[in-house]
Amino acid sequence: MSDVCPLCKSQDISLRYPHLEDWEYRVAPSRKFGFAQCTTCSFWFMTPRPAEEEILSFYPSSYHAYESDRKGLTGYLVKIRQYLRRRYYLSLLPPGPQKAVFDVGCGDCRNFELFQKVEGIRLAGVEIHPDLADRGRQRGFEIYKGSADRFDETSLENQFDLVTMNHLLEHVADPMTVLWKTLRILKPGGVLAGELPCINSLEYSVFRSYWAGFHFPRHLQAFSQSTLKKALHEAGFDHVRILYPPHPVQWATSFQNALDRFVVRWPRHQAKGPFHTLFLMIGLGFSLFEKLFHISGIIGFEARKPLTR
Ligand SMILES: [Zn+2]
Repeated sequence: MSDVCPLCKSQDISLRYPHLEDWEYRVAPSRKFGFAQCTTCSFWFMTPRPAEEEILSFYPSSYHAYESDRKGLTGYLVKIRQYLRRRYYLSLLPPGPQKAVFDVGCGDCRNFELFQKVEGIRLAGVEIHPDLADRGRQRGFEIYKGSADRFDETSLENQFDLVTMNHLLEHVADPMTVLWKTLRILKPGGVLAGELPCINSLEYSVFRSYWAGFHFPRHLQAFSQSTLKKALHEAGFDHVRILYPPHPVQWATSFQNALDRFVVRWPRHQAKGPFHTLFLMIGLGFSLFEKLFHISGIIGFEARKPLTR
């Protein structure tokens, strides 16, 4: 195998899954991809590494991040999450005027709605999907077009109090470059806050190759608490904290994946099958249990840019 670990650059890697399947959107890549684990630092990543043009073909037009479905129980859970996120993000902003927030992978700009009541706040972000970036600009946000690991951040150095990064780092070809760019645009003492799937979890132990955290082929790597901390420290962050927000949606999708594999393949809309609400209720219980024992399938992270850089 010619790949190297994207985190520590070791060539000592072991193939864990020669091939995974896209249970959610049924995208069929033109060649086979699997998942490997680095024997030096334990990082999990897709192998072989896909080319940039292949990555874009993994995202169908109905992808849930492009157009969110907020009906029924999902809608209520999204509202609760938005309320909790608003409180959390506002607590991370410094006092005083001229606050600035940057969202990496800002999608349909839903995160910016959380800061609507903050007077005079600067809201900026980077988005790879050109139509979404244009729509964000039309709404008056400062949106940069491009991938998070490729966009030019040189004019944004030391400008942001808070960078948010939800469900992004696992999608990009070069996660370390994204963290370096993030560190650069933060003010000294500024905070990076985000979320991503965690392979060192009860959820992965139960579902293995059907685990929705692989979100195959759209997730190019799977972090654990330790590999995420290593990446953040390596990029130059300090005060790294791991958080455990409950996240029942990934459980629901994992249940659906297993049902599709062992019973029958059901039609889905935006990755959701016919039993989504039931699986979501069961998943809520499991995700609260995971939170209690710090074995969550989705983890939050928080890290600061050192004051002296
Ligand atoms: Zn490694």
